[in-house]
Amino acid sequence: MDLQLSAEQAAVRQLAAEFVDREVVPHAAAWDRRESVDPEIVDKLGRLGFLGLTIPEEDGGSGGDHLSYCLVLEELGRGDSAVRGIVSVSLGLVAKAIAAHGSAAQRAEWLPRLCAGTALGCFALTEPDSGSDAAALTTRATRDGGDWLITGAKTFITNGTVADVVLLFTRTGGPGHRGISAFLVPTNVAGLTRREIHGKLGLRGQATGELRFDAVRVPDSARLGPAGGGFRLALDTLAKGRMSVAAGCVGIAQGCLDAAVGYAGQRTQFGKPIAGHQLVQQLLAAIAVDTAAARLLVWRVADLVDRGEAFATEASMAKLFASEAAVRAANNAVQVFGGYGYIDEYPVGKYLRDARVATLYEGTSQIQQLLIGRALTGVNAF
Ligand code: FAD
Repeated sequence: MDLQLSAEQAAVRQLAAEFVDREVVPHAAAWDRRESVDPEIVDKLGRLGFLGLTIPEEDGGSGGDHLSYCLVLEELGRGDSAVRGIVSVSLGLVAKAIAAHGSAAQRAEWLPRLCAGTALGCFALTEPDSGSDAAALTTRATRDGGDWLITGAKTFITNGTVADVVLLFTRTGGPGHRGISAFLVPTNVAGLTRREIHGKLGLRGQATGELRFDAVRVPDSARLGPAGGGFRLALDTLAKGRMSVAAGCVGIAQGCLDAAVGYAGQRTQFGKPIAGHQLVQQLLAAIAVDTAAARLLVWRVADLVDRGEAFATEASMAKLFASEAAVRAANNAVQVFGGYGYIDEYPVGKYLRDARVATLYEGTSQIQQLLIGRALTGVNAF
């Protein structure tokens, strides 16, 4: 793998960095406090093509490779994980699944709008009683003539209350993963109610919702991929999604490094900048190593995807390491800031709160360990 960025990759990274410094960083703390990012950020992301990265131009996307995609997500993660999450889900989970598995009609209906940011998508797998064991989901779609009637509940759904389309995983057959199918459900259908979940530890600017389906009617043409193939589709989609979560975590770690180095240079204790105390340098070095190692794992996955090679285990490794590294980096950065790290005048406390969820969603750290363990041993230990 060539670790030198191409001219196009460097340009897209710079475009994203400038956008984040101008449009995201100055507002992130206020969005976090009021529990809502500025909705116009979606329009701005769309206009820059960031919601259509890697999606073919003929489908309305902005094309490009997965390394560029990860560079943009890293920058967004450095700015505000709430914004990064909007992109990770609407593009990384929903648009990518439609591009990979959608019919011509589904691609034409949703991709141009999702890529332009005039519509948002959400990915609804988790239910109140099935999280890690997603194949145990109980939301059900039953046949009614040529249509399906969907009943059940989803929870913790990123973009859930603001999305225009739900990529929904629901049972259409018997128990187990072979009885699950995927559907694209517009959110303006009768029988769908949505409620925002408040009181989150982090990602407060992001709309996380509960969705309730009460005999929601959709035509068979709303099914994405084959009947009974929904769980496979979810796993394939999440494998790529983990790369984008990991990239966002690299951004958090880099943000912590920048903030901590800057602060250590200007904060004086015992007659010299704290950067001159060896134990502070130890903290800074730990953050730097975590950041660099996480970035290399992310770039490795992006390279495998761009080469068309198997990447799922490497994506689990990158997500596991980068999410835990971001938590460590943010925790170390708070330590460098001392008491000032504990108040939201500085960004490191928010980085810590935002990083924490990355060890939970799209498969907890334990689930990533089980996926890696199964790939190593051939033994399913779930
Ligand atoms: P559980 O599955 O109940 O796990 C609890 C604990 O048990 C964890 O530590 C877990 O690692 C451990 N555990 C479970 N099984 C095993 C095992 N076999 N071996 C060892 N340990 C195990 N979901 C979506 O579908 N779409 C979204 O957009 C989305 N966004 C989210 C946004 C936020 C802010 C949050 C908090 C969650 C989001 N989720 C979303 C849900 C998320 O994916 C789940 O929370 C996650 O999969 C874990 O499920 P759970 O919370 O039910 O925990």
